[in-house]
Amino acid sequence: MKLLVLPGDGIGPEITEATLTVLEAASRLFKLDLSFEEQKVGFAALKAHGTTMPDGLLGRVAESDGVILGPLDQLAYPPREKGGVNVSAVFRVKLDLYANIRPARTRPGLGKVKEPMDLVIVRECTEGFYADRNMYQGSGEFMPTPDVAMSIRKVTAHACERIARRAFEISLKRKKHVTAVHKANVLRMTEGLFLDKVREVAAEFRGVKLEEVIIDAMTAHLVRTPGRFDVVLATNMYGDILSDLASELSGSLGLAGSVLAGDALCCAQAQHGSAPDIAGQDKANPTSLILSAAMLLEWLAERKKAKACGKAAEAISAAVDKVLADPKKRTADLGGKLGTRAFAAAVAAAL
Ligand code: NAD
Repeated sequence: MKLLVLPGDGIGPEITEATLTVLEAASRLFKLDLSFEEQKVGFAALKAHGTTMPDGLLGRVAESDGVILGPLDQLAYPPREKGGVNVSAVFRVKLDLYANIRPARTRPGLGKVKEPMDLVIVRECTEGFYADRNMYQGSGEFMPTPDVAMSIRKVTAHACERIARRAFEISLKRKKHVTAVHKANVLRMTEGLFLDKVREVAAEFRGVKLEEVIIDAMTAHLVRTPGRFDVVLATNMYGDILSDLASELSGSLGLAGSVLAGDALCCAQAQHGSAPDIAGQDKANPTSLILSAAMLLEWLAERKKAKACGKAAEAISAAVDKVLADPKKRTADLGGKLGTRAFAAAVAAAL
């Protein structure tokens, strides 16, 4: 099985190296025969090729069985005409990686909430408030005059229907409870369309409970009673914000895995950003990308009938839990002393 590895910016190369340490150990133990092909994206590619997204990258993705994508420092990129391309956004739209699946759970001794939390956020990621993916041509953000800036939000029935279906399918393997997050009290048409499609899909899944919660109240409920949520279904920006909140509540932004999953391709991508404030210091917690890679293996197990990948995914998740259970084996974000490399070595050893 060939995986394309794109380390990205900031802490990307460090957490990618850590993830490969764990994947290589899993490949040996479970006879996965994984091979890795690395390519530069982000600032490394900008320096070498004049663009953060080198030509032919989408073709390389298509030839692979899956992708491991490190975080990208898009905020610091030059404008598009000077080579600053948001690789992650292009992947989501051009490869139709429409479902961003982001689980977050507390572990014994870790977590910033009063009760255990174990939920998964299912986030649409090809449209919504993200102006860079809303137009056939041009940008969804524009300035009619120097002191007026406008942004267009796109919500389609097709995208709402398929992300809702993904959430309900996931809920069948969990507690059969979907919470749809919205702001239909203000954005009546866009959020109304989202809710209509969610209710239509819900009608096909009679055994699954559907709850609807307004986004602002949702942030309070998530802090107050996180244990009451199971699958949280959201449009693009709400899902993005809620998932950072949920992973920090679970202990740290560096803890929660995440995949971009289409119907034909899956990309493991850490939930957090490039963390420029700690880049290059061997301080980052690589758990998010390690668990994202485990989720990619789980996806390969299901879609490509690769049973051993499923076993390896379970073992990686258990090894991460085992290492995190020991306060002495945690990284700095969790109050521990281990560096990125040493943490990865401990997870590989625990496999
Ligand atoms: P961030 O997620 O990079 O960092 C927020 C805070 O969390 C920082 O204090 C950081 O040190 C900490 N943190 C993040 N990941 C960590 C980890 N694995 N271990 C320990 N601490 C960790 O958010 P930001 O600083 O707002 O964004 C930095 C850049 O990342 C921006 O250019 C932004 O656009 C980009 N970004 C990229 C992605 C992505 O590629 N998927 C996602 C979000 C943000």
